Amino acid sequence: MSQTSPDVAVIRMYAPREQIYAREARGRFASWRWLCVWLTQAVFYGLPWLHWNGRQAVLFDLGARKFYLWGLVLWPQDLIYLAALLIVCALSLFLFTAVAGRVWCGFACPQTVYTEIFMWIERQFEGERSARIRLDRQPWGYAKLARKGGKHLVWLLFALWTGFTFVAYFTPLPTLAASSLSFALGPWESFWVLFYSLATYGNAGWMREQVCRYMCPYARFQSSMFDQDTLIVSYDARRGEPRAPLGKQVQAGKVTAHRETAAAAPTAAQAGGGCIDCSLCVQVCPTGIDIRNGLQYDCISCAACVDACDSVMDKIGAPRGLVAFTTSRAVQQQLAPQSLASRLLRPRVLVYVALLALITAALGWTMLHRSPLKLDVIRDRGVMAREVEQGQIENSFRLQLMHVEEQTRRYRISVHGLEGLTLASPAEVRLEPASTRFVPVTVRLAAGQGQPGANRISFRLVAIDADGAPVQVEEKAMFFIPRS
Ligand code: SF4
Ligand code: SF4
Repeated sequence: MSQTSPDVAVIRMYAPREQIYAREARGRFASWRWLCVWLTQAVFYGLPWLHWNGRQAVLFDLGARKFYLWGLVLWPQDLIYLAALLIVCALSLFLFTAVAGRVWCGFACPQTVYTEIFMWIERQFEGERSARIRLDRQPWGYAKLARKGGKHLVWLLFALWTGFTFVAYFTPLPTLAASSLSFALGPWESFWVLFYSLATYGNAGWMREQVCRYMCPYARFQSSMFDQDTLIVSYDARRGEPRAPLGKQVQAGKVTAHRETAAAAPTAAQAGGGCIDCSLCVQVCPTGIDIRNGLQYDCISCAACVDACDSVMDKIGAPRGLVAFTTSRAVQQQLAPQSLASRLLRPRVLVYVALLALITAALGWTMLHRSPLKLDVIRDRGVMAREVEQGQIENSFRLQLMHVEEQTRRYRISVHGLEGLTLASPAEVRLEPASTRFVPVTVRLAAGQGQPGANRISFRLVAIDADGAPVQVEEKAMFFIPRS
């Protein structure tokens, strides 16, 4: 609350954002995070360059309403697979959260990954934490302008490359590259390249921890999936408190400084360490929190504070683990880290694993046994049932054929269900690779057959030149006989 005059008080509903200058963390978890950065980015930037059967291996061709995933061609009718895939992803997230808390947030979420990359670029231009703080306090001049301008330029170029890659999943990469180079991108492509680029630049460059704190819904509900045995980043207050600077602890004989001799390490280890209040765990935190205040929803489990504190403990010759990946139960009951594995297979984890296995198996089975041809029968509403030569009754239909294989096929059409039913249109149809085709067909019924009104019949398509297992599909339809 601030006073503007004796009678008027201004109450701030939102605290102004405090700039976070995260120090670079080094250690085993930082290495894991960078491995995730490399892997996820290799997949994201690399996939559009891969080819399969003379086309882009992964392409979501919205115009043709076809999704290509290597040898698999999916149509809008196959959305059920996408729904199943989303359920698998959601269940996987629940499972990982129940077991390992927010490891997704800390290591593999695009927000974390891009922030890590953007912070690395920032360090190349502006230096480490203290140099960045100094730079921000300096008045504007050529040097500051060059550093800040260079950083933003590289951020923008990187973000543009990200936007371009994103759109390359929807427009074949060679076409997109040619249009970009000749400044002939279509309106939608231009919009999405710019939108995705600006989202990357804004989220990873400017907003950073604000996205995790205020925009991400997962941060809000993930705690409902936590239990006492979920892995969290935790500070061991029993060991760490009362915290005191290293000098005081050395004076008190609690910790022997690393500098003294390597032989001093066992003495410190016996003393049990204790927090030396160096604040390194706070300085490396990308969300600017102090893990010593307990579990907070802002914590994304990136373990940067674990690496920082481990490095401090190594330096003062105390055992690692004052800040560690552990569980609430282990902290409360002072359990050894080895005992965590025994609590892994608990009921909720087993339920998630069983559901995941079931849905994944069902998805795999249905995709393996997916028919390469889909058939829909549409009655030709313009041409009703009519009597033709020799008293025959004629009905017209349109067959919609969706051919998902990536090779040309010939199919033979036949019609069944009533005595004297014949096809009066060509019986053979040729389908181009991964194509949809409407085929008009005329069906005739010999005089005196069937009942007046609707009669159930079926169309059957059999592949003539199938080189593997025989391909055959059948679809029901109604044949109408006029009432006299
Ligand atoms: S408290 Fe530690 S684990 Fe949590 S976000 Fe900060 S650095 Fe990462
Ligand atoms: S890094 Fe470790 S020793 Fe330093 S303040 Fe944090 S918890 Fe204490």
